[in-house]
Amino acid sequence: MDAVNVDSPVDRFNDSVEEQYRTLAYDTALSTLLAVLVYVLVKVSLDCIRQWRARISVLIVGSGPIGLTAALVAVRSGKVLKLTVLDERYRSALLCRPQQIALDPRSVRFLLDLGVDFDNMEGCWHNEHFFTKIGVFQEYLLSMLEQKKQKVDVKVHLGTKFSEEYLRKIPRGELPRVIVVADGSCGDSCSVLGISDDYIVESCRVYGANASIERLDQRQVPTPEIRAHSLYFDLSAYGIDTVKYPHSSSQPAAKPGFHLKIYGTFRNRYMALACTSDADSKMMHFLHHTANSSIMKNIFHQSFNAYKMDIEPRLSDLTIHHMQCSRKLFEIMLSYRRVSAAYIEGDNIAVTVEGEAARVLNFDTGCGVNFGMRGLESLGLFIYRTATALDQNDVFEALSAKIQHSRHVAETIRQTGLASAMFE
Ligand SMILES: Cc1cc2nc3c(=O)[nH]c(=O)nc-3n(C[C@H](O)[C@H](O)[C@H](O)COP(=O)(O)OP(=O)(O)OC[C@H]3O[C@@H](n4cnc5c(N)ncnc54)[C@H](O)[C@@H]3O)c2cc1C
Repeated sequence: MDAVNVDSPVDRFNDSVEEQYRTLAYDTALSTLLAVLVYVLVKVSLDCIRQWRARISVLIVGSGPIGLTAALVAVRSGKVLKLTVLDERYRSALLCRPQQIALDPRSVRFLLDLGVDFDNMEGCWHNEHFFTKIGVFQEYLLSMLEQKKQKVDVKVHLGTKFSEEYLRKIPRGELPRVIVVADGSCGDSCSVLGISDDYIVESCRVYGANASIERLDQRQVPTPEIRAHSLYFDLSAYGIDTVKYPHSSSQPAAKPGFHLKIYGTFRNRYMALACTSDADSKMMHFLHHTANSSIMKNIFHQSFNAYKMDIEPRLSDLTIHHMQCSRKLFEIMLSYRRVSAAYIEGDNIAVTVEGEAARVLNFDTGCGVNFGMRGLESLGLFIYRTATALDQNDVFEALSAKIQHSRHVAETIRQTGLASAMFE
């Protein structure tokens, strides 16, 4: 008789138990996966909602061109619930400064992205640069901030100095999460916040001199700048030959000889004269080592009359007395803050320093405002990251990125800033 392979009841029972275990394991894995998925989904959604809803209070110290632009950047970040802008000057003093500002193409693009409409601002275009009076620019930005009041709680307090007393008066629960210090080259708000006043000072390897002249009978309307290159002066009376030496330059695009820039309005004219450091240039050495204001005055006088606009009156022996100028060529140095962003523990405030409060040249090229705009390019992201930070580590990361950008801006200004402002 053939043997028939029939499962015993015990085998059948074992198979069924195995099957049940398999199903159970499968169900458990599936439900665990589902639970993890739901958890991740809920967490991501909650994070998104939290990030979307995150709004902070921001305080801007200083209503110069950089402070007011920073205020627009803050509004634009979409993460600001309350924005306070301060300036120790009253409106009339704030808007009456004589200088004009020259916005380079990169700053123009940055401002266009913030919604600035240059067609509605008094000024003039030349070589893709926009020239306007500093007060006109500030007034325009103030009016833009006024319009943003429907979206954000914007408060502009002119005639209010940022000080320890001002800070003390803010109730603890209402302290800003971000403070932007844009109080210019003479401001002391950083020390109020306990931020070190240490500066790193580095040579731009360029020598220069400045002059200014005020002629009250002239117009105060926006005027394009004038640039002239490869200039040599007749200093034979002082035993200096006008020889053209080959230049070795650290600043890219620098042509040999001196570079002249005439800027500002007809009423408030400014001049900058610069040349790259060249060990062989007798003329540069002579002007660097001889502190004689009449030589420099003469050089600026001749240069102005040679390169001024046709419709502008010449400088005469009479008007030259109104000119103020450097007594000699000086080495152009960039000073920038060692600490450009900081965290105030306890009060949970992140601080960033911008504009001339953060970095400044000892030489005016009339392009200072652009250097400030470069720093603001990382401000929107900084505010976003601080507003959406989960913990202190996230804030530290945002601060560290801001510091790195600030260093990068300073280094770029030192290396190529004068080239773009004067030599090209
Ligand atoms: C004579 C001269 C001519 C110039 N010509 C040109 C030019 O032709 N083209 C050009 O592009 N640039 C020019 N500049 C440079 C330009 O003016 C600066 O680059 C620009 O103003 C810097 O902007 P800022 O906002 O960083 O600082 P600022 O314009 O100095 O603004 C800082 C503000 O902070 C306020 N403040 C300071 N301390 C406090 C405090 N404790 N509390 C509250 N508020 C405070 C000040 O009142 C000020 O309004 C010129 C500068 C000078 C001095």
